[in-house]
Amino acid sequence: MIGGGITGLAAAHRLLQLLPHGEFYLYEARDRLGGPLQTIRTHNSLLEQGADSFLIAKPWALELCRELGLADQLIPTNEHHRRALVVRNGKLLPVPEGFVLMQPYDRSAIWRSPVLSVRGKLRLLAEPFIRRPAAALDPGYDESVESFAIRRVGREAYERLVQPLIAGIFVADATKLSLAATYPEFLEAERNYGSLWRAVLAKRREPPPKGHESGQEVGRKQKTAAARYGQFVTLRRGIRSLVEALADALPDGSIHLNSAVNNVARAENGQWRLDFADSQTAIQADGIIIATPAPLAAKLMGNVDRQLADDLAAIEYASSVVVTLVYKRGQIAHPLDGFGAVVPAIENRPIVAASFSTVKFPSHAAADHAVIRVFMGGALNPQLVDREDTELISIAEQQLAELIGAQERPTEVHLARWRHSMPQYHVGHLNRVEAIEKRAATLPRLQLAGNAYHGVGIPQCIHSGRTAAEKLAKQLK
Ligand SMILES: Cc1cc2nc3c(=O)[nH]c(=O)nc-3n(C[C@H](O)[C@H](O)[C@H](O)COP(=O)(O)OP(=O)(O)OC[C@H]3O[C@@H](n4cnc5c(N)ncnc54)[C@H](O)[C@@H]3O)c2cc1C
Repeated sequence: MIGGGITGLAAAHRLLQLLPHGEFYLYEARDRLGGPLQTIRTHNSLLEQGADSFLIAKPWALELCRELGLADQLIPTNEHHRRALVVRNGKLLPVPEGFVLMQPYDRSAIWRSPVLSVRGKLRLLAEPFIRRPAAALDPGYDESVESFAIRRVGREAYERLVQPLIAGIFVADATKLSLAATYPEFLEAERNYGSLWRAVLAKRREPPPKGHESGQEVGRKQKTAAARYGQFVTLRRGIRSLVEALADALPDGSIHLNSAVNNVARAENGQWRLDFADSQTAIQADGIIIATPAPLAAKLMGNVDRQLADDLAAIEYASSVVVTLVYKRGQIAHPLDGFGAVVPAIENRPIVAASFSTVKFPSHAAADHAVIRVFMGGALNPQLVDREDTELISIAEQQLAELIGAQERPTEVHLARWRHSMPQYHVGHLNRVEAIEKRAATLPRLQLAGNAYHGVGIPQCIHSGRTAAEKLAKQLK
């Protein structure tokens, strides 16, 4: 196993289940496992440095937690304030209820919302009357998030809502982001019903599956973003508990930190040979799983398959910075009546989003504290990641002073840089991944896994790692 992020760990764990008597090793370049799943535990708070929760609608992380005996550690998001705010002219306004990424579920809430101008609302509400291009009927059709959103809901709704909401998830440039690879359901809605709104109506009219609630009820439930936030959970002792439980479940001596693999080659006996960046002796293995980011997988494949290496190298990554600031609740004037705020690019602010961690997960800190995480950088502001810590912290403090009335300095600050950690699924991503997988399938007992391919979320990474382990175990048997 090469790479000790959540993907590599999940793969190793699955391999151990399938081949309990096999000998395997996990090599991680850094001095710690888990990639962006890092929790700082202080005497009275849990401060997440990267990922803070995962989606249960994709079941793989939840299932793994159960297998690892962590089921009683799972905690849902706060039942209150399940909504996002969006910055408009320096003020925080609620994203209209029933507007989920770009799908309008509640037209009257959109009409009442102060986020859009009357013109912007009228254009958004005209969505059912916008014609679908003939090309969109092709099941292999792809388009950027920006062009689809502008086409369907109009430029203002795109700039004020869709762009910041999507950037908050993928730290991506929506002008390049593939809709087919990120939210195929929106393309399907247009393909099948001609419009996002008509798709909502059709779903509401559908008879419920036997033993389930009525289509009306389903429609009503889907109506709010709150339902979506209700599908995220974390762990009582922080997201890092998942990494620790996986590492604990692996055999002693199987994990090697500070072990960067710098070349992979086929040995004469048909085994894979792994060379390390330091003076560590090379090893040979019957099979390997490469669970590193795609550019590093490309480097490792350079001497094995040039075409595969080039395809892998074409998947771009974005970097980001997370500044975690701990305040006394009284230092913040804003009611913090949401899970956080996203910042449209047209607001011209140096931050992508601010997450109100103690609103999302109140048990993560003392009641009189407010923990705010500020996200910066991403594909739209890549140079920011190279600034000095002091400058980035000062930007975060300044933005929070302006946006939520944070007074005086926070009592504690942490900064985490996540360089080249978020793959950018650009238009055509699905075709590229198909080509990569076809090519990789020609190499014996070699599997690729990770966030580069079929989803960036923790559940998708776990699924990718486990699937790679299952395929490799079959090949080894
Ligand atoms: C700031 C941030 C916040 C996020 N928030 C969430 C969230 O709340 N919920 C969610 O579901 N997802 C979230 N994500 C996404 C998710 O956390 C990641 O997609 C996922 O953790 C990636 O896991 P991975 O194992 O595929 O990759 P990584 O974690 O990047 O692991 C790859 C590992 O390979 C190692 N490596 C690289 N090269 C070599 C080599 N040559 N030899 C050996 N090892 C090597 C690296 O050091 C690294 O540890 C977030 C991501 C970021 C960056």
